Amino acid sequence: MLLEKVHLNLVNIECMPTSIKFNAIIDLDADIADLLPYLATEIRGCTYIHGSDELNYMERGHIIAIRPRQVTVTAVKDEEEARQICEDLKNMINKVHQQRDTIAPTLRKQARLDPLTVYRELPRTNCGECGEATCMAFAARVVSRELPVNLCSPMLQNEYGDNRERLWELLRQAEYEVD
Ligand code: SF4
Repeated sequence: MLLEKVHLNLVNIECMPTSIKFNAIIDLDADIADLLPYLATEIRGCTYIHGSDELNYMERGHIIAIRPRQVTVTAVKDEEEARQICEDLKNMINKVHQQRDTIAPTLRKQARLDPLTVYRELPRTNCGECGEATCMAFAARVVSRELPVNLCSPMLQNEYGDNRERLWELLRQAEYEVD
């Protein structure tokens, strides 16, 4: 077994005292860097660039980021849900480790653009100014080349400057047109 113990921390992500949304930060008791290419093969729809030391995917409304010594999970309702996610992740990672000799690792260096990657750089306010109900829906239509990214006017504000630069660069690399 690769992971024996994990350490869970919950971080409240909203200022409201009544908020029930947390991010879970899970510290791992082993370095799983070598396992990331195998996890990338087994986790359908994930984003992973070989050598980047980070793998991301979306599952049941949570954005999950796996790094060599830590996993983060967004939008967790409470501690009970966090503990269940934590246990599921530990079991999944140990299973992939156990079966890695039968899995072809993902070694591609260049990212395929996917909605989650675009979504992560958007303001994520679901303001609707682009004409889509959610930022995730907008991201999907940008990736499928149905909508230009500059329809998201909030992205042009200064506060999103860093995100804009990263996203524009990702789009250019994937040969999308960016004004
Ligand atoms: S305009 Fe931008 S921030 Fe607003 S919903 Fe569309 S993608 Fe999200």
